[in-house]
Amino acid sequence: MSDGKGAEKGIVVAIDGPSGAGKSTVARQLAERLGYLYIDTGAMFRAVALTVKRSNVSLEDDDALSELCRDLEITFIRQEGAYRVLANGEDVSEAIRTPEISLLTSRISTKKVVREVLLHEQRRMGRAGNVVLEGRDIGSVVFPHAEVKFFLSASPEERGRRRFLELQGKGEKVTLEKTIAEVIARDAQDEQREHAPLCMAKDALPIDSDGIPVEEVLSRMEKIVRLKELEKRAS
Ligand code: C5P
Repeated sequence: MSDGKGAEKGIVVAIDGPSGAGKSTVARQLAERLGYLYIDTGAMFRAVALTVKRSNVSLEDDDALSELCRDLEITFIRQEGAYRVLANGEDVSEAIRTPEISLLTSRISTKKVVREVLLHEQRRMGRAGNVVLEGRDIGSVVFPHAEVKFFLSASPEERGRRRFLELQGKGEKVTLEKTIAEVIARDAQDEQREHAPLCMAKDALPIDSDGIPVEEVLSRMEKIVRLKELEKRAS
């Protein structure tokens, strides 16, 4: 398997960080500003979790899990300005965002067989470059040679609050306290897992989004990528 080095022609932008740090919002908007492809790798793990839940495959059965992942075709489309996630042709954009699927996703993403299949797929999707990928291990594992790496974070309280407002807006019955606790539990699972844990790549630029308007975060990021584009063109 390639290690993602040199395969990409355009620029690869990796955005990693814990849940609720605002990665999706900035990754999506940054990709739009740059005219790059946007790949939400969390949605890919979520689509696997939803499919596992529906299939009754045991989390302990590596062969069945691997087969399920290989048979699952995940695609991203844009519809009326919104990004949609399809799993074997079915639009699962809403179904993958429930608190139950979030927690199951975090458990499933500890599985080496699942990560192997998705890693291959993520590299295939991003190899042409001019792409923004968001996740937990993009700069450290998926594209360790990405030209630009950001690590976006915010305090657990702020991240929990954002997630709470998002879920509440969708009509989910949640409490702020429970949502913050779930964010913290998911972080712990993501940071402590054996394979590709959530961590900041050595050469990533840390951005703490606590109290900083999205617009400002985006402008900083765009400036950095534009500089890289100039450097690349000149080399
Ligand atoms: O980013 P999002 O919250 O949608 O990700 C859902 C879960 O998928 C994370 O909590 C994490 O367990 C897993 N994930 C991962 N590696 C990635 C992206 C997401 O393990 N690159």
